[in-house]
Amino acid sequence: MLKSHGRGAIRSGVRKAMKGSTNGKTHPLWTNKHRASLRSAINNGQWPQARLFRAGLVDCTKCRLCMRANGTLLHRHLCTVTSQARKSCKPDRRCDAFISQLTQGANHLLTTRGLLANVDLSEHQPNFEGLLTWDVLPNGGTMSSTDTIYCDGSMVDGPSKALGRVGYGFAAYDKDGVLTASAHGTPPWWIDSVPGAETWALYQVLLHSIPGATIWSDCLSVVNRFKRQNGCHY
Ligand SMILES: [Zn+2]
Repeated sequence: MLKSHGRGAIRSGVRKAMKGSTNGKTHPLWTNKHRASLRSAINNGQWPQARLFRAGLVDCTKCRLCMRANGTLLHRHLCTVTSQARKSCKPDRRCDAFISQLTQGANHLLTTRGLLANVDLSEHQPNFEGLLTWDVLPNGGTMSSTDTIYCDGSMVDGPSKALGRVGYGFAAYDKDGVLTASAHGTPPWWIDSVPGAETWALYQVLLHSIPGATIWSDCLSVVNRFKRQNGCHY
């Protein structure tokens, strides 16, 4: 069974094909006249013989061309009568390699509807609380007010939110430049951007330090936001 865990279909490439954007790379056989057909397939606007039969509009489910198999959306890609026309599409090795990795359900959806299901991530539940790992635990468990603390947040991979991963870290130094604390971790699931990770990093520093410490962040928007709303000095 096809599962996308409610995440729907991947639409970015489809949008490009619909718009006929010259920025995106499309298959050499793709022309403007194919857009309406793709739109109809995606929106389930096609009425093959088997669907007409289910709706009570015809008395027979057989393909009108070959009369050998049920006239389904998939049969359109297998019908012997139209095989010559389909051969005009030359095989694309990269495309075939990609399709061969799809599950049967995903392959059927792509072939018949032009839709590519999002990956099922139900086995990879997000972290709700966020994680923090101390690499150097500060004396007493809290960073000193006389320390200078540097924090940072970042994001790797992507470009979709499903593939991107955010993380953060911070380090504290005393007046002699000696490392007194350092930690790294991941924000909770609802933070999915670099500014969000930067903000979470600063939030964690505030949670684990005594007020008065000098805190450095390289994210200007985060610094401005905290300055404005909290009256803090960073
Ligand atoms: Zn047929």
